[in-house]
Amino acid sequence: MTAQLIDGNALSRQLRAAVSERVQALKARGITPGLAVLLVGDNPASAVYVRNKVKACEDTGMHSVLQTWPASLSEAALLEQVAALNQDASVHGILVQLPLPPQIDTHKVIEAISAAKDVDGFHLASAGALMTGAPGFLPCTPHGCMKMLEAIGFDLHGKHAVVIGRSNIVGKPMALLLLQKNATVTICHSATPDLKAFTRNADVIVVAVGKRKLLRADMVKPGAVVLDVGMNRNEEGKLCGDVDFANVKEVAGWITPVPGGVGPMTISMLLVNTLEAAERQAR
Ligand code: NAP
Repeated sequence: MTAQLIDGNALSRQLRAAVSERVQALKARGITPGLAVLLVGDNPASAVYVRNKVKACEDTGMHSVLQTWPASLSEAALLEQVAALNQDASVHGILVQLPLPPQIDTHKVIEAISAAKDVDGFHLASAGALMTGAPGFLPCTPHGCMKMLEAIGFDLHGKHAVVIGRSNIVGKPMALLLLQKNATVTICHSATPDLKAFTRNADVIVVAVGKRKLLRADMVKPGAVVLDVGMNRNEEGKLCGDVDFANVKEVAGWITPVPGGVGPMTISMLLVNTLEAAERQAR
């Protein structure tokens, strides 16, 4: 069996076209949705992510502000920038690219962002809203994964979903979103003794670890949906995920590629959140 591909680029094109239309509608009312992106330090991967986010924003007609700061920036100075952006009416969403240098307390900075502008969905108010089922900004990567499941018409009700990874930005919110759709959810992590025992019984597997070939073909139930969040580099320096794609695609029913899977969806959901922030602030 060869799995069907879930094409994150194609789905993103559809989502971004819909975002562009809503941006035009807001612009007609004199409001241009605006995203501010703050990058501290010179992490090359972060620089690429930030560039892609800013470009995607501009491609949909939104306004974007990119602030880059040296790795030596103090926590107080960053908090001051965030406070200024909270007050700036032309900025509807604020994103602080992670990771931050060690002298800066990441939690403190995220909590300093106005909850109304928390388009990454990392603020405690957003996390609490997700936990309790209240409306709020959803973290972009898990939200993008849910959109992919929706796009293939996969009904999660009564299904077994396994999430590998329990970070606050991917694994935990992913598990909550799957639970909201009535899946029975298992969360695996580095202390899970026998990963395969769980994944072999899963109808859906979301892998968010950051280790190449963590999920192998013998760990997947035939026909399962496999969403690969991981971003790694292979020996040739090429981008790859956490899934042994060449072999798992022969067993799975649906699979996301890397690149061209979850990555573009993450950016698309950031655009959706920024647009929604602008629409809410306009009300
Ligand atoms: P993270 O904070 O480092 O979390 C990794 C998780 O994997 C942890 O919960 C860890 O368990 C677990 N883990 C580590 N080794 C494991 C093993 N052998 N078996 C099972 N679980 C294991 O990473 P993250 O921020 O969630 O990101 C995960 C991956 O997704 C990275 O490659 C990242 O670059 C990528 N990512 C991609 C996107 C995208 O848009 N495509 C967005 C965000 C992240 P413990 O908690 O026990 O340590």
